Amino acid sequence: MAKRVFAIAAHPDDIEFMMAGTMMLLKERSYELHYMTVANGSCGTAEHDRETIIQIRRQESINAAEFIGAVYHESLCDDIEIFYEKKLLTRLGSVIREVAPEILLVPSPVDYMEDHVNTSRLAGCHNIPCFTLWTQRSAKESYQSGNLCRYNRGNEEQRTDVGNAQKPEGVAG
Ligand SMILES: [Zn+2]
Repeated sequence: MAKRVFAIAAHPDDIEFMMAGTMMLLKERSYELHYMTVANGSCGTAEHDRETIIQIRRQESINAAEFIGAVYHESLCDDIEIFYEKKLLTRLGSVIREVAPEILLVPSPVDYMEDHVNTSRLAGCHNIPCFTLWTQRSAKESYQSGNLCRYNRGNEEQRTDVGNAQKPEGVAG
């Protein structure tokens, strides 16, 4: 299995805030990096029109992916439209199968925002180990404790060692 990690977040900036540091560390361990925000940032402005902000956020994401040496994958839908439904599930699934990552980095399945939770669900059902920062704790606490959590079982054949991942209390799998 190729050493390949795929960060799948909801919105532009989410990867930079939650996953980019982990990706850079994995790159030092010879992982190939892949980067996608499921939504395109269409609601990320009080100033620009829809097409303009999508272009701005897309270019920012491409620049960020380039900065850490990651392969950029296009967004699939607008902000606030990440639903756990068949069409989006199959579109995301086809990209995941194409990339064939050993590890997925995903948002926490417990979060204040539906887009984040649904991204976690959409990415988390493809038999690939998913790791997340457990956001019931603050991100700062999680980073300080090195507490990058694995929350799904993935394919048992694909066990992998990425350091101090652990299952948080009360989480199945
Ligand atoms: Zn977000």
